[in-house]
Amino acid sequence: MYISEEEILEHISARPFRLVSEAADEMGVETYVIGGYVRDIFLNRPSKDIDIVVVGSGIELAKQVAAKLGRRAQLSVFKNFGTAQVKCGDLELEFVGARRESYSHDSRKPVVEDGTLEDDQNRRDFTINALALCLNKARYGELVDPFGGLDDMEELTIRTPLDPDITFSDDPLRMMRAIRFATQLGFFIDPPTFDAIIRNRQRIEIISKERIVDELNKIILSPKPSVGFQLLDASGLLPLIFPELCALKGIETRESIGHKDNFAHTLMVLDRLSRTTDNLWLRWAALFHDIGKPATKRFDARLGWTFHNHNFIGAKMIPNIFRKMKLPMNEKMKYVQKMVDLHMRPIVLSDEEVTDSAIRRLLFDAGDDIDDLMLLCEADITSKNPEKVRRFLTNFQIVRAKLAEIEEKDRIRNFQPPVTGEEIMRTFGLEPSRPVGVLKEAIKNAILDGIIPNEHEAAYQFMLSRAQKLGLTPVKLDPKC
Ligand code: ATP
Repeated sequence: MYISEEEILEHISARPFRLVSEAADEMGVETYVIGGYVRDIFLNRPSKDIDIVVVGSGIELAKQVAAKLGRRAQLSVFKNFGTAQVKCGDLELEFVGARRESYSHDSRKPVVEDGTLEDDQNRRDFTINALALCLNKARYGELVDPFGGLDDMEELTIRTPLDPDITFSDDPLRMMRAIRFATQLGFFIDPPTFDAIIRNRQRIEIISKERIVDELNKIILSPKPSVGFQLLDASGLLPLIFPELCALKGIETRESIGHKDNFAHTLMVLDRLSRTTDNLWLRWAALFHDIGKPATKRFDARLGWTFHNHNFIGAKMIPNIFRKMKLPMNEKMKYVQKMVDLHMRPIVLSDEEVTDSAIRRLLFDAGDDIDDLMLLCEADITSKNPEKVRRFLTNFQIVRAKLAEIEEKDRIRNFQPPVTGEEIMRTFGLEPSRPVGVLKEAIKNAILDGIIPNEHEAAYQFMLSRAQKLGLTPVKLDPKC
């Protein structure tokens, strides 16, 4: 983690930093780069968002810097917040005056006053986020680290600069941030800081769902997301923000037969999947894949524990959970729902003889998301029995090969029925009605079952023969139509 002075200077050598320095000296104000950008220099993480704090007016300094940068710079001023932003190439500089904050009990919106650098560092959430590098010429690159942030970085520790009970009670979002940083960076939460999270957990109720989801997304996108969910669980935050996931916890035993802990299993699936994809929504699907298990759990003297239809019940639960958590109610939700619904299909397939018809149906139902579904299913194999794992993975290879072969042959993935409802109505002079649906479904099934090829003429002839059985006869079409 040791970084030389030259390396630090290298990170603040770009022209915008030099111009901030020049402008601040001309205005006679102290200025620093602070927070995440400084932390990330020491962690060797790339970062483009640069927070500049000024002991004076952030907006004034931003205006001077933008003027010096000329046409290449884009200035935005947020008067209400006392902040300003300067964009220059791919760098984004946020300017703010150093501030002192005081909080009331029922809101995470503080009363803000002008303050010193020390006041500003005191209001930061963690020691590693309170580091500042001076930009004034006489002290260019000097590190101001009042809380031992560098030592904490060395020891991979998340710790609040002040009394953690006050830090978390003032702004309970910081509890989520502590867990998120621990997960993202592979850090540990200092025990007194973690104990304060446990004590203050109920305060999470004043935080908006959207902000909680922002943090959950960052946890889910981390290299090993299970770390975050285990910390959420151990701190007592999980039942408050995600009770459905908590319900997966625990093992029940009857007649000496136990079932696996579905919470532990779910986290294992999420970690395994995270090694193969960065797709946020597929990772959410992993988190939700067994969400229907608690509601469908039964004990049967002959079969032991069963979770019949848990995929179907789980998929039905998704819209409500998304609505409650303020996750997006759009095609992302539909995608997660589809993954949850279909997550058992490839494994059932690979357990039986793999017929063309079953493969066509899977392709039809999964469409373009078939590859994502296969990744989820492979991650879902967490058995401790190596023989079983080997068998499933080999069978999946067969399923994958079959999928490719059938798709190549029949083009089912983006299946559009070759005879439309429109054409059925025109042929038989029908209004929209049940027989139209029956014929459409029969054509689709005939194609998926391989009875007819996926072509218009074959489908049209099949429709005529089926319609005859239903007592329908084609109408004579007006040649002028
Ligand atoms: P990331 O970009 O990964 O979200 P970050 O810490 O780099 O993390 P921000 O969330 O934009 O970026 O925060 C910038 C800085 O502002 C932090 O490093 C920290 O000093 C401070 N900060 C942000 N949120 C809070 C908070 N809720 N309480 C106290 N300080 C905060």
